[in-house]
Amino acid sequence: MILFESSDAMRQWSTSQRQHNRTIGFVPTMGFLHDGHLSLVDHARRHARVDSVVMSIFVNPTQFGPNEDFDRYPRDRARDETMARQAGVDVLFLPDIEDIYPAGARTFVEVEGLGSIMCGASRPTHFRGVTTVVTKLFNIVLPHVAVFGQKDAQQFLILHRMARDLKLDIDMRMAPIVREPDGLAMSSRNVYLNDDERRQALCLSQSLMIARRLIEDGKTSTAEIIDAMRSHVGAHSLARPDYVTIRDLDSLDELHVVKKPMLVALAVYIGKTRLIDNWIYT
Ligand code: AMP
Repeated sequence: MILFESSDAMRQWSTSQRQHNRTIGFVPTMGFLHDGHLSLVDHARRHARVDSVVMSIFVNPTQFGPNEDFDRYPRDRARDETMARQAGVDVLFLPDIEDIYPAGARTFVEVEGLGSIMCGASRPTHFRGVTTVVTKLFNIVLPHVAVFGQKDAQQFLILHRMARDLKLDIDMRMAPIVREPDGLAMSSRNVYLNDDERRQALCLSQSLMIARRLIEDGKTSTAEIIDAMRSHVGAHSLARPDYVTIRDLDSLDELHVVKKPMLVALAVYIGKTRLIDNWIYT
């Protein structure tokens, strides 16, 4: 596995791969890797069949709000390097903040509308930070294919729209959510949870299963499905919902009546930790 810490070195490598007609798959992450991240590497190789996989690890300050967890976001470079190597990552790109945001940087990329709802309602600058950093990383890594997780479905839909709107020549792919054996969606932030919180965190995936069962039983009113999900979350003393919503998968408009393809998504504070999860009905 090759390690690059500078964007110049990274881009030189990618340029030479392209000159040799070798395809590049790209998996951007914030590190503290888990099997969810590694599944994206596998997806790039197996489904997108790229010649090499580049993974970036960059805890991006612009996607954190002023009172969020940027400073305490978990980081473990040595462990990440080992895991990435074992997963068959070809190039690990670890830029520093000054490289990605040189002094005086004033340019942001924003997808209007989609970034101010759902997670964007409580994190108003979050998606602008994501679209900006992913654009910069795309311009450095020069990928043919980029793979993201359904865990952050809104993020993927926004990035997909950005790629389309900006005419980026990148195949944008979304890979399924990887879960712990008991159903909790894997997340770097799960380390924040104490034992009680870890148990109660199951209310997210469980409420998605409730939604799924209601829909499979023929329920069509999204308000009733959302009520059932909220009351399940509400039965957990450490859980406080940020949002529970059912939306059209493309426009992210709220749906009143069940209609495929749709996104059932929720964000819940478990103690002080904000967790997200979703299910796509197709
Ligand atoms: P992060 O490091 O949290 O920014 O995530 C980096 C990438 O990994 C994003 O595309 C996420 O959607 C994806 N990801 C995070 N958790 C999971 C998971 N449990 N299953 C699948 N993909 C995930």
